[in-house]
Amino acid sequence: MIDRILVRYGDLTLKGRNKKRFIDTAVQRVQEKMTSERITLERAHDRLYVRLNGEDPAKVVRDLKTVSGLRSFSLVHKVEKDMDALKKGALDLLQEEIDAPTTFKVETKRADKSFPLTSPEISKEIAGHVIPRMSLLEADVHNPAYTLNVEIRAEGAYLYCGKVEGLGGYPVGSMGKGLMLLSGGIDSAVAGFLSQRKGIETEHIHFESTPMTPIESVDKAIELTERLATYAKKNRILLHIFPLFSLHEAILQNVPEPYHIAILRRMMVRVADNVASQRRIPVLITGESVGQVASQTLTSLHVTDHAATRPILRPLATYDKEEIIRIAERIKTFEISIRPYEDCCQVYVPKSPVTNPRDYYAKRYEGLFDYQGLIDEALRNMVTLTVGKKSGIRLSTSGFSVKEAVEEGGIPHDRFFAE
Ligand code: ATP
Ligand code: MG
Repeated sequence: MIDRILVRYGDLTLKGRNKKRFIDTAVQRVQEKMTSERITLERAHDRLYVRLNGEDPAKVVRDLKTVSGLRSFSLVHKVEKDMDALKKGALDLLQEEIDAPTTFKVETKRADKSFPLTSPEISKEIAGHVIPRMSLLEADVHNPAYTLNVEIRAEGAYLYCGKVEGLGGYPVGSMGKGLMLLSGGIDSAVAGFLSQRKGIETEHIHFESTPMTPIESVDKAIELTERLATYAKKNRILLHIFPLFSLHEAILQNVPEPYHIAILRRMMVRVADNVASQRRIPVLITGESVGQVASQTLTSLHVTDHAATRPILRPLATYDKEEIIRIAERIKTFEISIRPYEDCCQVYVPKSPVTNPRDYYAKRYEGLFDYQGLIDEALRNMVTLTVGKKSGIRLSTSGFSVKEAVEEGGIPHDRFFAE
């Protein structure tokens, strides 16, 4: 009976070429999700139909709920554009759907004005046909528990009941690329997801300080990336793992303690800026939220920004922690993020970090060691992985570097390979 899923696009306030790119990208993302050979897509004006050909609609809807740029879905039954077919289709659909007494109405939208009856006439005729044939239905046009929707459009007539919400936003890739600084914590994964939902295709960069920090914290970054790959273009995300240790150590040795974190943050941003240049990525993204810690006061953010040549997006800038956690739970990154491994921002946290750092001092302290040399050296040892969902790979052996793990075959190269 249900033969198609009607897909409504998200924010369609876009105009002209932007709108075309939006729709083309959304269709592409949906196509990538539809792994079953049976499924075909039908494009219509401002919407999309996923033709099931026997595929389980619940599974398809589950997959569609991971595609950003889609506002909502309805399970529909397509019929010929004539009243007899509409009446028969409506009765068939209701007989399948309704198994307890309910109040009910028919609501019709007639986009195809060449259809001979008006919307109220169509609704009335259909209701008049089904009510005498189904004792479970009682008409109530003002406050019905159940609504049968009828849409008469150029390409056909559709019957459906109900709507499932999608992610909304823009399809991933329609807005270009961003380089996400992904820690193992709660915030950056959420910021990554929100960026994807806004149509940004993300690559991730994770800074690891082994042996100062355990290799398991890299695991967390990998697993978070795996989770976020669910929403990504082609279901995968590039993860750059940058060995921060020597730079981190140089900071601890050379920089006065209150400035440790401020300079560490500037170094991360600087490295990310270098990588983004190489990868032709125009923006950086972080999970910073105003006021959360000393390094996230407005003056700190200002000083951090000066280390980059490109804009830094901070999707969570104004979010409360509780709101962030709610999203993390919804996208299932929370349970990964709260696992207790320290990452490089948490080890050796100074007792009294500066809350209002000054650019002048930041630059002066950075002048005390050859950071660019250390960055260039570490960049040569950066490892890039393509992470797809269910790669099932863990770096669970402590005490050796990610690069060694890759070289020694600790990371299998099938779905999850070094580039
Ligand atoms: P949480 O605050 O929940 O611990 P977080 O990811 O926000 O997690 P912070 O210490 O607040 O961690 O760091 C602020 C931001 O800096 C992060 O959101 C992230 O974008 C970036 N960042 C911190 N540590 C790393 C890291 N090891 N690798 C990559 N990015 C990092
Ligand atoms: Mg944070």
